[in-house]
Amino acid sequence: MQAHKCPNCGASIFTDYVADSSQRKMKISCVYCDSRFTIDNPDYEPPAPAHQRVEEHASAIPYNASTEWDLKVSRAVGYTLFGIFLFSSASMWIAVLRDNSTNRSISTGLAIAFTLLSGLFYFIGNRSARKIKRRRAAGIFY
Ligand SMILES: [Zn+2]
Repeated sequence: MQAHKCPNCGASIFTDYVADSSQRKMKISCVYCDSRFTIDNPDYEPPAPAHQRVEEHASAIPYNASTEWDLKVSRAVGYTLFGIFLFSSASMWIAVLRDNSTNRSISTGLAIAFTLLSGLFYFIGNRSARKIKRRRAAGIFY
C-alpha cells in the first residue's frame, strides 16, 4: 500500500484489500480507528477499448469504405466489360482497316472510343484486384 494517510487519525497502516484490476477505486480500512475510505486502486488497468482497436485497424487500411464483396463485384464487372469492349474494339479495328471506303459502316472514332472504354474497364477491374490483394496482405477478409 502506498503512502495513504487515514483522514480520521493520520495513521498509514490499513487492512489489506485485494482489489480486482478492473476496479478503478478500492475501499480500505484504517487498522487503528477502523474508518473506511476509498482510494485509487494501484492495480487498476483500464479495459482495452474494443471499438478503438477496430478504428485503428481500419485507419491503417485506406480502403475500408468498400467491402470485400464490393471489390469482387467491381473486379468481375470491370474485367468482363474489359473483355467485351476489347473484343468489340478489335472487331471494329479489323472492319475499319479492311474497309477503305469513305462511307464506312463503322467509324474510326467509334473503334477508338471502344478501345478507350476497354482500357477504362481494365483499369477498374485491375484496381479492385489490387485492392483485394492489399487487403489480403493486411489480413483483412471481410
Ligand atoms: Zn484511522
